[in-house]
Amino acid sequence: MDLAFDKKHLWHPYTNLSDPAVVFPVVSADGVRLKLEDGRELIDGMSSWWACIHGYNVPELNQALQDQAAQMSHVMFGSLTHEPAIRLGKQLLALNDDALNQVFFADSGSVAVEAAMKMAAQYCYAKNQNKKKRFLTFTKGYHGDTFGAMSVCDPVNGMHTMFSKLINKHLFVDAPICAYGEEWQDDYLLEFEQTITEHHEELIAVIFEPIVQGVGGMWFYHPEYLRQVRTLCDRYGVLLIFDEIATGFGRTGEMFAYQHAGVVPDILCLGKAITGGYMTLSAVLCQEHIGHGMDNNFMHGPTFMANPLACAVASASIDLLINKDWHAEVKHLENQLFDELQACLSLSAVKTVRSLGAIGVVEMHDRVDTDTYVAAFVEQGVWIRPFSNLIYVMPPYIMPGEDVSHLCQSIYTVIKHITEELHS
Ligand SMILES: *Cc1c(COP(=O)(O)O)cnc(C)c1O
Repeated sequence: MDLAFDKKHLWHPYTNLSDPAVVFPVVSADGVRLKLEDGRELIDGMSSWWACIHGYNVPELNQALQDQAAQMSHVMFGSLTHEPAIRLGKQLLALNDDALNQVFFADSGSVAVEAAMKMAAQYCYAKNQNKKKRFLTFTKGYHGDTFGAMSVCDPVNGMHTMFSKLINKHLFVDAPICAYGEEWQDDYLLEFEQTITEHHEELIAVIFEPIVQGVGGMWFYHPEYLRQVRTLCDRYGVLLIFDEIATGFGRTGEMFAYQHAGVVPDILCLGKAITGGYMTLSAVLCQEHIGHGMDNNFMHGPTFMANPLACAVASASIDLLINKDWHAEVKHLENQLFDELQACLSLSAVKTVRSLGAIGVVEMHDRVDTDTYVAAFVEQGVWIRPFSNLIYVMPPYIMPGEDVSHLCQSIYTVIKHITEELHS
């Protein structure tokens, strides 16, 4: 591969062309393994950023894609409709127990967040709630890289500083502190309650990632937050948006993370794993009162809205998921990751380890250098890409036990090797 061209001309996510990061040339992927150009195989601990829940080169998904390509790869969704969109729409509503009623298909997670924010705003304006102009969220959130999404990302670690002149000012309260599984006390929500009480007249919606804050710390928090926020939103007439772009489709041990709490948002954003990692697609689902609560057209409509290839592969991915005992598969991963990451606690650089669903996290005391760790993991035959002070894995659900063990052992070995070398 012409890596010199890549280095000189291609941006990778969050990189600087004047100081390009190291990249590894990958030629194919199958099951839970990525194959590099030099023939090395890596066990994939990342599911390509939450997406490839069934692994790679999945016969059922390949078939769905080929069948649909032979039929119709794409057609505009303006004044036309098609079976792949209708079928996927039905599946998405059913997966949400019909508590959500309408579906807007978009083409990436960030765009889903934009559409959700606009949907909430248009609903409020249709009700003549003209003072409403802000969103309320937790710190340490991540919702995407477009302007609306950025404006509700963490104000310190997000992109607020760089784009402060261009970003709308929304309201932030401290990120949830009560961990999943810890004992709940009602004062955890004092700041949230005070803020919504004081500002509800100008608030369009509350938006956050339920149960797992992803990029903002791989933090698992108590479901009671969702229940109490839902109650407060209802009391003050503020809409509730859940961003499940990362957590959706089983990753946290429930089909959707909000199901840990048994509350339903007004608007739900889905993406990442929706197509099993095959294509880019996202969806915004809303309750009936939102969809029917606008007197004007909803002003959003991506060119590739409801792309038939993406819808067809998403349908096949959902079928694959629900036709097996994915609950048990994910629970098994949760337990194995928890048990086998414990060894890391004996390393002084490690602060804590945790797992929820098919997510395993080793939190370090200090930030780690991503490139150094990635290279060391490749040497171990695994694909793991840490950020900040977090070394984490979210494997495809199908990963066999011995490969999970290899991931966990590699994490231990690499941390030990790198941190002990630093100190010697
Ligand atoms: C990845 C992510 C997004 C953005 O999705 P893109 O497809 O990258 O635009 C938004 N919200 C959450 C919680 C995410 O994890």
